[in-house]
Amino acid sequence: MPELPEVETVARQLDKKLRGTNVASVELLQTGRETPTGKKFIHALVGKKIKNIARRAKLLVWNFEDGTAMLAHLKMTGRFVFVDADYKPGKHDRAIFIFKPVAVCSRSPGRALGTGRDALPRLVWSDVRKFGFVKFVKAPELKTVLSCYGPEPLQTQAHGLAERLKTPKGRKVKAALLNQEVIAGVGNIYADEALHRAKIRPTRRLGTLSEDERLRLAKEIKKILCESIDQGGTSANDYVDASGKKGNFLGFLRVYGRGGEKCRDCGTEIKRIVIGQRGTHYCPGCQR
Ligand SMILES: [Zn+2]
Repeated sequence: MPELPEVETVARQLDKKLRGTNVASVELLQTGRETPTGKKFIHALVGKKIKNIARRAKLLVWNFEDGTAMLAHLKMTGRFVFVDADYKPGKHDRAIFIFKPVAVCSRSPGRALGTGRDALPRLVWSDVRKFGFVKFVKAPELKTVLSCYGPEPLQTQAHGLAERLKTPKGRKVKAALLNQEVIAGVGNIYADEALHRAKIRPTRRLGTLSEDERLRLAKEIKKILCESIDQGGTSANDYVDASGKKGNFLGFLRVYGRGGEKCRDCGTEIKRIVIGQRGTHYCPGCQR
């Protein structure tokens, strides 16, 4: 599942291309994962001017000028990819969004900008597993949704993140990291990797972590997320960015998806266990 670095990569690409444009049209190819459904969704979006496209936790947040927004969650296999005008929709495509630049000349906006309809940015939303969703929200709901998440790791000092890992004392540290109310945006891959880098076993209970260990873990979380963003994220499964490219961080992973292989640091065989129904990878040699 795309986590903070992957969603951040997509958000930056969408923002770069779409900020300041208007939603010109929305073509729903498969209904059911949009709110409100069907024509109501299209009506809610068409004509909205995009103020910016940002990320909160693993959510893409399309902020419109009038204070409303569209939230998009990629879940397992969702993707937003820019396509050309001659694009033929595929079996897993759910919607195509077309945007137009705000007209500088109202009589012939296309000509004024040197663009025809074919040159307008168009974005396809597709999702093989169908767990992802898009949702149009008004300002009060937007505020409520965004406030449900814990602190953003990139915008929070390591000490602040470490504080979040103190209680409940009986909770396993891996489970705490996966909880979006504890720290926003970290998922299975970066939880396993940060724990390996911090030399902490995923099965440790929060109450057993020393202040030093908590701080070490918080610093490693911040570090690995930044490193992964620099590489365009991790394509462990289907993830691609908004230009259809895979992320480059997979080769930098030390434990995730490497069960049975040797730890690159100490040579011990990496173990795969299950915590909270999630496959969890760690090195019994390095991690205490
Ligand atoms: Zn090791």
